[in-house]
Amino acid sequence: MHAARPSRPAATADLAAPPMLPGARPLWFALRDDDTNYFTRPEQLERVYGALWDRVPVSLSVVPFHASTPSKAIPPEYWSGDRVFPLHEHGELVSYLRELLAQGRVAISLHGYSHQNYPHGFEFEVGPDLLGRLQHGRAYLEDLLGTEVSVFVPPHNALSRQGLLAVDRAGLNVLGSFLSFHPARKPWDRTTLGNYIRVTLYRLRLRRGRRAKIVYPFPLRYRNHAELGCHNLVPGVRAETLLAGLAEARRVGGSYCLATHYWELDEALLAELQAVIAAAAADPATRFVPAPALFAPCGRSVA
Ligand SMILES: [Zn+2]
Repeated sequence: MHAARPSRPAATADLAAPPMLPGARPLWFALRDDDTNYFTRPEQLERVYGALWDRVPVSLSVVPFHASTPSKAIPPEYWSGDRVFPLHEHGELVSYLRELLAQGRVAISLHGYSHQNYPHGFEFEVGPDLLGRLQHGRAYLEDLLGTEVSVFVPPHNALSRQGLLAVDRAGLNVLGSFLSFHPARKPWDRTTLGNYIRVTLYRLRLRRGRRAKIVYPFPLRYRNHAELGCHNLVPGVRAETLLAGLAEARRVGGSYCLATHYWELDEALLAELQAVIAAAAADPATRFVPAPALFAPCGRSVA
């Protein structure tokens, strides 16, 4: 049976609240914040999320053993050298994160192992022993913070074919959009063709060409992991773009993950973050969830 074609929203309709397709589910919304590491000060997180995380859980992507490498999340004097900065050596931050977890204000994801940049690529493109890094990084964060870690966020959103193989072996779900199905970019297993077809049909439905950027709003389930793309709140992004993505995800009954960095949320970006959250909250059916819930197996993987 074919569902009736939805009527187009009127030109004047609020972008944030278009009608949903018949049978579509309420929107699931997760907020992802990257780069918490040894150098993060609790007041940095408190400043941007203190007024928010009792309503919207914040999914912190945490670096367990930060390398001396260029990153705006660490002071420039540590951008070179051999020193490694394990999270557990910042005891005040560890206690603070445990407290936030106990209060249900945050969830923890694994964000690389060292966040090391190499001359020829990023950590999960070209780094050594990627599976070992995933396994050790996950176990370390789970022990240190006393929480389950089931989601991986690759540094710089960069994951090579080798990186994808490693996350599948580790069984970690990935927040990130890896929609190239070229065999040089993505390992193929028995699930890959089905996912290729899902994404292609979705592009057709949206009338977007193969090269147009999309965020597929459902988890794509592979042999031993799933992937879900995020919308990036970074300097220069237009609020309309984020709101259009939100409207699209809502219309199809999908999920929406907004990704940002606490260290670059100035007043202007913070205002954009608040605008997107207000638009999501305007629909009482929206559920603000921690990132791992986006992958919950309850039939949300079919567009
Ligand atoms: Zn990062």
